[in-house]
Formats: sequence, C-alpha cells, structure tokens
Amino acid sequence: MRKRLKMRVQGADGACPAPLQGFEELHERYKCGRRLLERMREANFKEPTPIQRQAVPILCSGSELLAIAPTGSGKTLAFLLPIIMKLGTHEEGGARALLLAPTKELAGQSARILRILSRGVSGLKSCLLTKATAGNDFSKVDIVVATPMRLKILLQHDKIDLSKVLYLVLDEADKLFEMGFVEQIDAVVAACDNKDVTRALFSATLPEKVEELARSVMARPIRLTVGERNS
Ligand code: ADP
Ligand code: MG
Repeated sequence: MRKRLKMRVQGADGACPAPLQGFEELHERYKCGRRLLERMREANFKEPTPIQRQAVPILCSGSELLAIAPTGSGKTLAFLLPIIMKLGTHEEGGARALLLAPTKELAGQSARILRILSRGVSGLKSCLLTKATAGNDFSKVDIVVATPMRLKILLQHDKIDLSKVLYLVLDEADKLFEMGFVEQIDAVVAACDNKDVTRALFSATLPEKVEELARSVMARPIRLTVGERNS
C-alpha cells in the first residue's frame, strides 16, 4: 500500500506499523473509542488520507515523527487523532499536549477540528492561545494550541507550565522556520522538559533548514514522506 500511496518511510529499522485500511481499524488496533469514530464520520472524515494512514499508527505506537506531505493532504488530523486517543479524558494538573503553528489562523484551524472531535466525546479541554486567552488557567486545559510568539511571552512571565507536556507537535515547520521562529521554538522545546515527551514535526516541504530543525528537536524520528519531495 505504501508504494501505491507514494509513501516513503525511513529510519524505522523495519519496525514501522502497517498503514491504516480505514479509520474503523483504530478501534481494534489502538482502542479508539466508538464515539470518536462516530464523530469523525459526522464531521465527514470517512476515509483516511495517505498521510493519515501512516502517520496515525506511527504516532499511536509512540515513535517520534518527521512527516512531509503537501498542503491540503490532511496533516492536521494526522497528529490530532493520536493525541486525542492517547490523552483519553480530561485531567487537571497541566497541559499534556502542545501544538505549535506559525500563524493565528493556522493554529485556529487545528483548534477548531480539536473542538469538533472532543466536545461531547472525550471531554478533553483545549485552548487556543490568543491575546484574549493569555490570562487563562492553563492547568485546567489538556491541549494548548499556540503560535511561537504568544507562547514565548507566557513562558517568559512564568504564566504556563509545560512540564506535563507528553506530545509536542511543530506544525507547518517550513513556515515556522521561514518566519524566523527558531529561537522561540528552542525556548518552547526546552520548556517541554518532561522526560516522556514525544515530539513530532509536520511540514509541506523539507528544505535543509527544516531538516536541521528536526535534527535539533528529535533524536531518532521515523521519517515519513508522502508525494513528491518538492524541496
Ligand atoms: P494540511 O495541513 O496537510 O495542509 P489540512 O489538515 O488542513 O491539510 O486538511 C485539508 C482539508 O482536508 C481540510 O479541510 C480538512 O478538513 C480536510 N480533511 C482532512 N482529512 C480528511 C479526511 N480524512 N476526509 C475528508 N476530509 C479531510
Ligand atoms: Mg496544515
């Protein structure tokens, strides 16, 4: 199936989990709740896209991931689903997942899908970090979605504790880099200092600088490429 989907997997040492045939399989393989599967159907996520077929099992099995797939290929759901499944239900005590996106708009899109898939399903609480929510109590939130600038300001003022973060995703990593956020990303990665943190990086293209960024934040990620490498 990987070949048919124009998919390449590297760095898995022969231990890459099989791609998904369909979302239904998540129930058997990773104990995905029936209500989440139902909500996905309601939201019109009926068949996984190629990146979702392979990235979801990789993240569910606990590996670090560098995922490269074109714009519009469904990368958001590819990292949201494993996080929602892994976190399970709401817990207080500090955010357990952090999604970093380059712009307010992109962060907002992830936050929107997150709400659709959790409200009335798992009870997981998410928060899009904006000027308006900067004063919130983040110890009561499971998942924080943020831009590097806003988050760094909170960190500098000690207004958020990221030591409970188990899943850190750098989304649209090529744009994060192009927009000059390397220093902020470093600060965020350093603040997510839980010894069990799993990091993942998603990007539409893989210029050398993004590869460098990936090397600096992950030790031995599985590298997954879908489609032609356009950089
Ligand atoms: P990317 O981040 O790769 O650019 P997005 O995650 O923003 O792509 O997804 C692009 C569009 O495809 C969105 O409108 C999203 O809702 C839709 N989409 C994602 N996955 C699926 C799916 N499995 N089935 C149907 N639509 C999907
Ligand atoms: Mg995206």
